[in-house]
Amino acid sequence: MPVQKTCQVSGQTFTITDEDIKVCKRFNVPLPTLCPDERHRKRTAFRNELNLYNRTCDLTGKPIIASYSTDKPYTVYSNEAWWGDSWDGTDYGREFDFERPFFEQFEELSLKVPLPPNVVLNSINCEYTAFSADSKNCYYSARMGHAEDIMYTYLALSSTGIIDCYNVSHCNYCYECVDCWSCYECFFSQNCKNTNNSWFCYDCIGCSDCFGCTGIRNKKFYFFNQCCTEEGYKEKVSKYNLGNYQVAQSIKKDFRKNLTSRPKKSAIILNSENSTGNYITDSKNVHCSFDLENVEDIRYCWGTEHAKDMYDCDFVYYAELAYNIVSISRATNIRFSFAVYGSNDIDYSMYIANNCANCFGCISLKKKQYCILNKQYSKEEYFALRDKIIEHMKHTGEWGQYFHPKISTYCYNESVAGEYFPLTKEEALSRDYKWKEPEPQEFKPATAEVPDDIKDVPDSITEEILASTLSGRNYKITKEELRFYKRYGIPLPKTHFLERHAERLKLRNPRKLWDRNCQKCQAKISTSYAPDRPETVYCEKCYLETTD
Ligand SMILES: [Zn+2]
Repeated sequence: MPVQKTCQVSGQTFTITDEDIKVCKRFNVPLPTLCPDERHRKRTAFRNELNLYNRTCDLTGKPIIASYSTDKPYTVYSNEAWWGDSWDGTDYGREFDFERPFFEQFEELSLKVPLPPNVVLNSINCEYTAFSADSKNCYYSARMGHAEDIMYTYLALSSTGIIDCYNVSHCNYCYECVDCWSCYECFFSQNCKNTNNSWFCYDCIGCSDCFGCTGIRNKKFYFFNQCCTEEGYKEKVSKYNLGNYQVAQSIKKDFRKNLTSRPKKSAIILNSENSTGNYITDSKNVHCSFDLENVEDIRYCWGTEHAKDMYDCDFVYYAELAYNIVSISRATNIRFSFAVYGSNDIDYSMYIANNCANCFGCISLKKKQYCILNKQYSKEEYFALRDKIIEHMKHTGEWGQYFHPKISTYCYNESVAGEYFPLTKEEALSRDYKWKEPEPQEFKPATAEVPDDIKDVPDSITEEILASTLSGRNYKITKEELRFYKRYGIPLPKTHFLERHAERLKLRNPRKLWDRNCQKCQAKISTSYAPDRPETVYCEKCYLETTD
């Protein structure tokens, strides 16, 4: 029987279904005490994706790029040093003290053990990224997987030659695209699939050579949803000087404004069955989850690709069987953890990698088994002590809960939680999160103006310090970037990468679902469009009737 519960933090009522109960039994954990949003908040406060800082490696003294600002109390090694064999995490091992709560002891350990600067796995020339795997030549980007030559992008999977995009998969040579799949040479477009050589398109599937189109299927040479001859299309497009910043911005603005008046599909779910949430592709049996690709049996998850049997998991890349975790890859049977890679059977741990197994309450271990608070035990000792600690945690009320907020190694306002569930400083502190005071920013005056037209941009622009027209914040244009803009006749950006990222983020709906009715046929729909939004929202069937 479904159980109604009241969230201990938000006070919201939430339902625990029979399916939830089944999953909790399978993972041998108690039922959640927080509503799904508060569970996401707690977990994603442990992850910093886009705030990178200059630091020095605490082992070698070399300058590094790290997700930890210099004011953090942690020991941070360079990736090379952290993954190297010159130190061993078990040197920091300690006895468990049954007189004290578990989280307190775990936090103390976190202040001693060296942490890696950012998570970059099996990748080349990706120092300026976070949460990258199997990638090459990526710069100021986060969540790269099998990606190459990517800049200023959030989430690129199996993609090459991408600049300024948000969530692209199997895409090549795209710019300013948001939520696109298998696209080639697409620019300023959103929610497109299998589309080539197109500009300013929204929800176009199987199209090529289209401009300013929405909701079209398998079309070629379409201009603002009108069929043209090849010559007619080229003539119409050539009337716009797309290489001019003001022209491109004004088309983008008008196009996005006009989109609001078109009916919207209740959810972007492609090639998937029995699934609720948004931005789901090639998946099965998904409940209330967002940004997923190729997953099965998933409940309350965000940002998960190639995974199976996940409950309350955020940011997973190739994994099976996990409960209440954030950031894992190539891992199986993981509970209540952060950053576990290539390891199995791990509970309440972080930064665990390289074939670890059976670790509990550990930090920064590689190739270890049967460890608790980084102390090595025999197999028999491990299981006996682990079970005793779980009993202890049931008494302290810690068992089944994700880590206490103060254990997060990041401040709330630099974490993913801060991006999706903003809090004021006072609210964050009252919930035991840390807060980062903005660092005094001294902007240098720009040494050059960015010309409006790409044709007027000299190669020397890559040597200049530029200033955002929005904030004065400094930024640079790299040589690779300039080559891309020149090749495709795209004007140079005039704002800082994080400002461009924030603008793209606004194009996406919140990771939240509302029960509504289709505004055409009244069928029940589950949608990320809140009831008070201005857009007209249709069920999948009615929406399809609006496409051409
Ligand atoms: Zn309908």
